[in-house]
Amino acid sequence: MAIAFESLDSDIAGRTGKLVVNKKVVKTPALLPVINPHLQLVTPRELKEMGVEALITNAYIFSQSKQYSERVKEEGLHKLLDFDGVIMTDSGSFQLSVYGQVSITNEQTLSYQKAIGSDIWVPLDIPTSPDADRETAERELAITMERLREAKEIFGNDAPLAGPVQGSLYQDLREKAAKEVGDLGFSFCPIGAVVPLMESYRYRDLVDVIMAAKRTLPRSACVHLFGAGHPAMFALAAAMGCDLFDSAAYALYAKEGRYLTTHGSFKIDELTDLPCSCAVCRSHTAEELRKAKDRTRLLALHNLAVTLAEIARIRQAIAAGTLWELVDERCRNHPQMLSGYRRLLTHNAELERYDRVSKRRFFYRGDETCARTEVLRYQNQLARLRLGKEVLVACDNGVREGYDTVLSFKPPFGPYPGCVKGDISHRPERDPRVGRGHGPTGLPGHPAPLRKPQREPDPGSRPPPGMERDLCRRNTGLCGAARMIKIDIRKRDGLARAGTVSIDDKTFPFPAVFETETAFPSLATTRRNERPARRPCGICKDVCSPGPRPAGCNPPGARQSGRERRCGDAG
Ligand SMILES: [Zn+2]
Repeated sequence: MAIAFESLDSDIAGRTGKLVVNKKVVKTPALLPVINPHLQLVTPRELKEMGVEALITNAYIFSQSKQYSERVKEEGLHKLLDFDGVIMTDSGSFQLSVYGQVSITNEQTLSYQKAIGSDIWVPLDIPTSPDADRETAERELAITMERLREAKEIFGNDAPLAGPVQGSLYQDLREKAAKEVGDLGFSFCPIGAVVPLMESYRYRDLVDVIMAAKRTLPRSACVHLFGAGHPAMFALAAAMGCDLFDSAAYALYAKEGRYLTTHGSFKIDELTDLPCSCAVCRSHTAEELRKAKDRTRLLALHNLAVTLAEIARIRQAIAAGTLWELVDERCRNHPQMLSGYRRLLTHNAELERYDRVSKRRFFYRGDETCARTEVLRYQNQLARLRLGKEVLVACDNGVREGYDTVLSFKPPFGPYPGCVKGDISHRPERDPRVGRGHGPTGLPGHPAPLRKPQREPDPGSRPPPGMERDLCRRNTGLCGAARMIKIDIRKRDGLARAGTVSIDDKTFPFPAVFETETAFPSLATTRRNERPARRPCGICKDVCSPGPRPAGCNPPGARQSGRERRCGDAG
């Protein structure tokens, strides 16, 4: 296969990996700076020295250029650009989206890209505008898919072809396109026509489009977000599983006198200081940079340094399992990005399937933290906790007598067993008391996010495995294995919280429950002296409480089938 992708570390749906093209390796996530042969603010050689392993240029510009059209065929793209890394070529689709037509066919552009020695070829797909009506989107997607099929038929499965995913804002079309691209055997899949969304700060739509495409793309595919170049949004896109970005933003912003940072861009005229540690910013004051003769080039160098540093920061965050913290930090820089971040969190159930099990840390950073994948995964697995009849959720983590189960409470996760020490959000491991089997996602091998208890529960205080279910059903009418407790915190004011607790299909509002530190009503959590009238026991034929037999209660038949029967265990 001409293009191979290997995923290494992962966090949320993002991953670090290796893209291998023609025996050349690119660390991902990666930025492919755009190179225009006619206008090189920063040369490919300089890019290489800055650590760039891959770049993108436009085959259509070369093909239409009197200066380069033939020369590039004779010398080859790598020699002409003086760059021995991976060079990807776009087909002219961008020009198609801007000018409405191009004077080249799908087969011609691919043959040209092959002839000039490009490492990754892009068919002439049609980037449908986000504002297109459904009929247009369907028609243009059909043409794009036909061209992808044509490319595979002409150049074969081993050709280094990219398979762009189009479909405008229609999520079902994006899903359909991504599925077909995967079925056709493309392992390098750009998501196209998203530049207008980013230019108009429509990050909610951007999130929906990427998530729709990712839903049906093969997990092994390398995903390239076409035209994404502002460092502020890389973390958000990487969290959804975008591996590559390309943009001319570093040069375009520089020409407009704009200075990129990870939290937005500034006009150089507005800056009194340069908040950056790159070589340009350390060797110039803001005033010197403003008045420099080669200001545009210097700004381009700075913009590139900031962009590449952010990519490295994302790779490190994925490796360390701290990508959520980085996404949260970046998305608070602009209200529309925060809106996109909140949209991403509505997809948390999908993201949870990709997310790693252990993380370096979990910092509460605001309401959005409550919807993170770690919280969702924990709350899904609460259903697997085995509980006694009387359950107390204690907010102060104190020890209580008189309850079968005492749970501590830690927002935003919710209740957790008292034997779990420390911060339950750190280094989750499987608790042996939690039922084995498949995790909430149906994927095997998802350990429960609980630490090992420091001491095993007293085996005498619990019925043998297998009996618990019967006892539970008899005593509470609920099956312990199927019990679902879900805490939904809807309002916060300081440390006070308000919301609902759901146990199976019943929902109770709090803070009433937690302020009084009473137990869940549905589990008949009354203190012993508040119990309803006792009933005759099936074992001792006396009036006693369900549960372990009290001292002195030793009637005939108390031991049966090798186990000690419990009072209240009728029959
Ligand atoms: Zn700088």
